[in-house]
Amino acid sequence: MSLIVQKYGGTSVGTAERIRNVAERILDYHRQGHQVVAVVSAMAGVTNRLIELASDVTGPDHTPTEREMDVLLATGEQTTIALTAMAINAMGGKAVSLTGAQAGIETDGVHTKARISNITPSEVHRFLDEGNIVILAGFQGRTPEGRITTLGRGGSDLTAIAMAAAIDADLCQIFTDVDGVYTCDPRVVPVAKKLDEISYDELLEMASSGTKVMQSRSVEFAKKFGVRFEVRSSLNDNPGTLVREETMSMESVVIRGVSLERDQAKVTITGVGDHPGTASKIFGPVAGANVIIDMIVQNVSKTGITDISFTLNKADLAKAETALKPVLAELGESVTMEAEDGIAKLSVVGIGMRSHAGVAAQMFETLSAAGVNIQMISTSEIKITVTVSEDQIETAAQAVHDAFGLAKA
Ligand code: ADP
Ligand code: ASP
Ligand code: MG
Repeated sequence: MSLIVQKYGGTSVGTAERIRNVAERILDYHRQGHQVVAVVSAMAGVTNRLIELASDVTGPDHTPTEREMDVLLATGEQTTIALTAMAINAMGGKAVSLTGAQAGIETDGVHTKARISNITPSEVHRFLDEGNIVILAGFQGRTPEGRITTLGRGGSDLTAIAMAAAIDADLCQIFTDVDGVYTCDPRVVPVAKKLDEISYDELLEMASSGTKVMQSRSVEFAKKFGVRFEVRSSLNDNPGTLVREETMSMESVVIRGVSLERDQAKVTITGVGDHPGTASKIFGPVAGANVIIDMIVQNVSKTGITDISFTLNKADLAKAETALKPVLAELGESVTMEAEDGIAKLSVVGIGMRSHAGVAAQMFETLSAAGVNIQMISTSEIKITVTVSEDQIETAAQAVHDAFGLAKA
């Protein structure tokens, strides 16, 4: 008998029929003699609809408090746990639903992107020991004072990984609407290949550069606590992708995958002085406005004057501009700000890059041959990222995927 944690994402529980499909699959595992904790997401589209509803009632001039946002968003998953448990019970199984709070998931108080601080899974164990299947609400927890919190978009992945670590599960399975982790989003690159395995570091870099198949914080957590997990389909029985610590043989592959992220924007501050304090004057107010920035590029200055550019999510552009306007005058008379959206990010990721030269050159040559202009470049030990015009991102991704020989045979 094994103890298994499974997670079913929004599309997998998107309709009553899909919930019944998930209920059957969970029951199958249970009838094989396993103990099962199944984490479920809100039904597809529900979280987005709740966010829209919130702005409909507050109007454009007000933002709802994040405390109330979390009370609202947590209802999406609460609906699915009840429906899934009901479906299993109707099929003759024995299931109980638990909210994040009931399952002992404690978080800090940073509403809408809370971090898990502790898990006390005594109720989970009690229900499992009584022979129940436990259906657990993803994406949510509670603060020590009892306030409801949520774990950031895609946070049900984190619930599953963290619960697997807390109850020392034998197996953690993330069921989704594709067969596993592919060399690139199969919706953009149809010839993308499913990977049999991938290291935590590679998936972490891919997830944090736009590969939405796993929430990046969940991969970070899995790495930290050594939780191996598989990503596989809820719609068939094909073998999925095993995510684990890296092995020697993984290094022989130079590029594991290609990530893309749309809806990016770029801000350039031109004509700033090249002296201590400039960057902090720019980035302090941006951070103060709670805007997360991504790539930063500062030109080398020959004349004591330079430009600083950074990228951010398009949705945060207006907030960043508002925060920076008052700073411009302080930075100097000739300082200007240019903002543009319509930008996307393309990254190639692979641990083999550490020991192989020429990856960047090959990527740039490929983009040039495809007629794609590179706007900004940044690198880490196992990743190279460029920004390009958003309308060229699919061409760019397909060309780079092809050039590194990632397509399926
Ligand atoms: P869930 O609702 O199960 O959490 P998500 O929508 O969050 O599912 O993630 C699955 C989606 O991730 C797929 O439908 C796919 O389009 C997208 N995706 C993006 N990049 C990749 C990739 N490299 N491999 C697999 N799926 C990817
Ligand atoms: N329902 C949440 C979201 O849409 C959490 C999740 O699906 O993992 O982001
Ligand atoms: Mg997801």
